[in-house]
Amino acid sequence: MLKWNVGVKIAAGYIIALIFILIIGIFSWLGTDKLSTTAHWKTHTFQVLGALKHLSSAIKDAETGQRGYLITGEIHYLEPYHSAKQSIDADLAALVKLTQDNPIQQQHLQQLDPLIHGVDGKFAELERTIGIRSAQGFDAARLIVMSDKGKEVMDEIRRKIRMMEQVELDLLEVRSRQAEQAVREVDGVIILSTVIAFILFIVIGVITTRNIATPLAVITVFAERIGLGDFSGKIQLDERNDEVGTLAKAFSLMATSLQVTSVELNDALAHAKASNRTKSEFLANMSHEIRTPMNGILGMLKLLQHTELNKRQADYANKAQEATLSLLAIINDILDFSKIEAGKMSIEHTQFVFDDLMRDLSVLLSVNLSEKDVEILYVLDPKMSENFIGDSLRLRQVLLNLAGNAIKFTDQGEVVISTKVIRQSEGMQKIEFSVSDTGAGIPEDQLESIFSGFSQAESSTSRRFGGTGLGLAIGKELVELMGGHLAVDSALGHGSRFFFTLEFAIDSVVVDEAVPQFKRVLIVDDNVLMLDVLRAMAESNGWQADCVTSGEQALELMQQVDTPSYEVILMDWLMPGLDGMETVRRIRKLTHDDNATPVVIMVTAHGREMLAGSSADDGDLLDGYLVKPITASMLRDSVAEALSAEGHLHTAEVILKGSRRLEGLRILLVEDNELNQQVALELLEANGAQMTLASGGIEGKPLALSAQVPFDAILMDLQMPDIDGYEATRQIRQSIRMQSVPIIAMTANAMQTDKDACLAAGMVDHVGKPFELEELLNTILRHARSGEAEQPVLAADSSLQVSDAVLDYELAISRINGSRKLYQRLATVFRRDSWVHIEGFRQGVQQGEMAEAGFCLHTLKGSSSTMGAMRLYRLVVTLEQELGGMAVVAEHTYTAWVGDLENSLTDVIAALDVDFPDAKSV
Ligand code: ADP
Repeated sequence: MLKWNVGVKIAAGYIIALIFILIIGIFSWLGTDKLSTTAHWKTHTFQVLGALKHLSSAIKDAETGQRGYLITGEIHYLEPYHSAKQSIDADLAALVKLTQDNPIQQQHLQQLDPLIHGVDGKFAELERTIGIRSAQGFDAARLIVMSDKGKEVMDEIRRKIRMMEQVELDLLEVRSRQAEQAVREVDGVIILSTVIAFILFIVIGVITTRNIATPLAVITVFAERIGLGDFSGKIQLDERNDEVGTLAKAFSLMATSLQVTSVELNDALAHAKASNRTKSEFLANMSHEIRTPMNGILGMLKLLQHTELNKRQADYANKAQEATLSLLAIINDILDFSKIEAGKMSIEHTQFVFDDLMRDLSVLLSVNLSEKDVEILYVLDPKMSENFIGDSLRLRQVLLNLAGNAIKFTDQGEVVISTKVIRQSEGMQKIEFSVSDTGAGIPEDQLESIFSGFSQAESSTSRRFGGTGLGLAIGKELVELMGGHLAVDSALGHGSRFFFTLEFAIDSVVVDEAVPQFKRVLIVDDNVLMLDVLRAMAESNGWQADCVTSGEQALELMQQVDTPSYEVILMDWLMPGLDGMETVRRIRKLTHDDNATPVVIMVTAHGREMLAGSSADDGDLLDGYLVKPITASMLRDSVAEALSAEGHLHTAEVILKGSRRLEGLRILLVEDNELNQQVALELLEANGAQMTLASGGIEGKPLALSAQVPFDAILMDLQMPDIDGYEATRQIRQSIRMQSVPIIAMTANAMQTDKDACLAAGMVDHVGKPFELEELLNTILRHARSGEAEQPVLAADSSLQVSDAVLDYELAISRINGSRKLYQRLATVFRRDSWVHIEGFRQGVQQGEMAEAGFCLHTLKGSSSTMGAMRLYRLVVTLEQELGGMAVVAEHTYTAWVGDLENSLTDVIAALDVDFPDAKSV
């Protein structure tokens, strides 16, 4: 039986059960058949008995009728006699028919018939008496009746009928017994078969459970254990030869091969993890190794650009710088990508100013534009908050990549960078950022794949446009890390629109500034989109805005009699036909005699160039500049500044006053690499810092500790041959005096872990190498004590390092991004204002107002340094030191000082006259 497989066992069980059901059916059918035959015979017997009873009573009726006639002689008594006679015939005929298969009864009937109808039969006797009565009267008939002859016949008839009845009653008894027997048999068969079928089903159930369900449960437990990675179990069903045995064997085989695969997989995983670790370390090291020399190359190139170069050399240097910067960008991309892959990219939550972000973005993007016929438009929602909490660097990186791509893949048209506040709630703003272009577009089947690393829409893309295909992959991950999702709408030939939504906390510390109150503003811009943006911003401030799309239209409008006077005009600079400057010039002429001279603000995407390229007179025509991208708050500020008297400052003057941002700060640079030393020293000194150099950690520590007044900041390289930056920092921090000195790490390692290690070692911040001058300056300023007043400005020895030239304009020009035009413009302001500062100093000292005098000297110091008037600068520095702490100065002393200053300034102006004859005084 066990040799049978499960299918056969179940089939056999079902066949036996079916046979039993069949048997039950047959027996039931036979039993019912027997019952119905018995019932038929019983009915038949009852019919015979009935007929016999009827016959007996008919004979009695006939006799009663005859007696009535005999007694009364009345004919009507013969009626029952006649009807009984007919009925007897019918009964006899029925009995013959009913008993035709019963020879005994037939025999009885044959004996009965002569007793009724025979010559000496009953009816013969009755007929005779009736005849005698009717012929001879009552007495004759009475004699016959009294003769008892009729009675004997009648008794014989009755006896025969009783015999026939007895035969039928005997038959009935036999048939009843047979019927009972048949019922008992059927009952027995049904009960027996039901019990057997029941037992059989139980047996089938048990077999099924034993053979299928139980082994399946065993296999399930086994499979579950495999699912949990436990391959140690074994299925004990191998001895079975049926399907279950086969299944068990298949499972065992599967488990074994899974176990092997799992071991291989674990090995491969361990290997992959190790490789990935090695890759990350390699990438981090390589990026450091590559960034350090590149820092050097960039620094050297920067210095090279500051030297006297002929046109071709300058071109080579610029191109080398561009190539280095793009190599650096690729390295940064790869580093970012590997950081994201390793899950090590983290998002910061710090306060940032949205305007600054946009300004940075526009400066960086304007570099990408080069010669292209593409306009970048910024459509910024006026409802945008000014300050947010988030990761501005990463947001900038994403927008820069999207906009950079948009510019790259657009030959003609517009790139629109827009922001839209889609939800505003308590302390939060949800903003949709989008970058759309009118460029090549992306084929539909590529829309997904461009977001995966190293993939570009067409294989020809990298040949035509370059790039690594990493930008969007990084952007997508960064957006997701910031809680959004980067998506794209694009169709080939119809441009692209990349967009994402991010939610930022709004910095609640910011107080609402007052919106300048005035009524009407005229906006002039040839770009309708820009016009709409400016109009929306103006209206969001509650100003009434009129818009025109050209200078000509603006002039026409202003000449109309019924035109209301405008208090503010926002003028686009570059327009077809009359450009912004020319339009302003004509507006000024128009409104010259008018009292209601409007405040004119020039709106331009080309701030610096315009400033450098325009003449001094032009500057006076304008009351302010707005450099695109423009946010609502920038517009507010600019208008407020232009409307207020103090706000009437020329950008050139701002530059003059603010250029030496590290003035008065003493900084220790700990750096082993000579090249990096040179770059950092020169650039920071050019910004007014007083630098001390240590070429390693061991040299740096005593320098830091021995400084009489602790340094304002220490810039610490991390990787140095003697002791590294971490160790040097720890040792310096051990001194109580050195607890508050800001130590800033400078390293090419940009991983978050490196930043954390820096903080752990006691450093306060971290700047990446090669450093962005702006970032380095900002970081130093953020941490260094701003103590211009308290700190000695320049130590005597370090002043020796400063050049002694009357006018080192090349150095000065190099510091303002090489713009000669801007320098020329600065020179104009310098010529005009420096005399005023000297006079202000003289009057201050004369009247004992030392603070005022000091302020004038300080301003002169800044502007002379910016102009590269180094001798004058040194003189001012010395005078500042001498003046420091003096309450009164003798007249002959300050007269001599003023004389020296005027002589020195005359020399500078003489030099300017030679080299910049165009920069006339105003
Ligand atoms: P890369 O620009 O270095 O090639 P990205 O990841 O930034 O890498 O972009 C991947 C690809 O997506 C690009 O090579 C280009 O084919 C396609 N692409 C991205 N932005 C645009 C756009 N604005 N217009 C057309 N194609 C685009």
